[in-house]
Order: sequence, then structure tokens, then C-alpha cells
Amino acid sequence: MAKRSFGWRNETRACRCCGTPDKQKKRQCCFCGVIMSSKKSRVQEIALERIYRLFELAEKELSKENCGRSKRYVELALKIRDRNRARMPVELKAKYCKKCRAFLKAGKNAKVRVSGKMVVVSCLECGAVKKTGEKEKKAKRAEEKKRKN
Ligand SMILES: [Zn+2]
Repeated sequence: MAKRSFGWRNETRACRCCGTPDKQKKRQCCFCGVIMSSKKSRVQEIALERIYRLFELAEKELSKENCGRSKRYVELALKIRDRNRARMPVELKAKYCKKCRAFLKAGKNAKVRVSGKMVVVSCLECGAVKKTGEKEKKAKRAEEKKRKN
């Protein structure tokens, strides 16, 4: 039996976030630096494309006065993630509220505060708080170490 050839394997990959083709086959986008991994299946790549697109739409919708749809877009993106077992990209993880699924935009419906190396994002719609980065204790310890040296 002849081996099946999967056309997409021979195609040059394109960046899932800006669409730049990977002509040098470095598997990293030369424009935005996103790593194009080969482990992900085609299905997951398409799912990621859709997730990115839905987040774009959610951001656009939020800039309008009636922003009821932006929540819906985030919900759809999360559904696609669950169905295809795709991982939410890190840059998108900070852009929605885990509790009420609202698209977060600093100055509009989110408050962003920086304390030390930690970034605290609080959702103004439901009050949920999300902390990212190094914790305060860790940062303090690192500072003490520096002083000793
Ligand atoms: Zn929220």
C-alpha cells in the first residue's frame, strides 16, 4: 500500500499570529518571534488560529459602546480550546477573566498594578484578581541575596 502523503507537511509553515511564512525553516517567526512547533497537530494549529481570531474580534467589540459580544467571543474561544485540547497561548491567558470570561483591557474593564516583579490584574466586572510574575517574597529574597553579595 502506498504511503499517504499529507500535503500540509510539505508546505512551508506560516506564523499563526501574523501569517509570516517560515521560508528559512527555522520554525520561529522572523517577524514576531512566535515558535512554530512541529509537535502540534494540524487540528490544534487551526484551533489556535481560530482562538487568535476570536480574541481579535473580542478586542474590537470591546472598543464599541455595546460590548456584550466580547464575552461571547471569549467563551467561543475557550470552547474551541477545550474541544481540540489546544493550549491557550501565554499572551492570551492574561487577556481574559477566568471567572466571568470578560475580555480584559486595561483602563476599560481591568485594573493593572505592578508591585515588585508581580503584575496584578483585577477584573472590574466581577472583581476577580489575577497575579502573574514573580511573587513578592521571592523578589525580596533575591534582593537580600544581592545586598549580601
Ligand atoms: Zn471578571
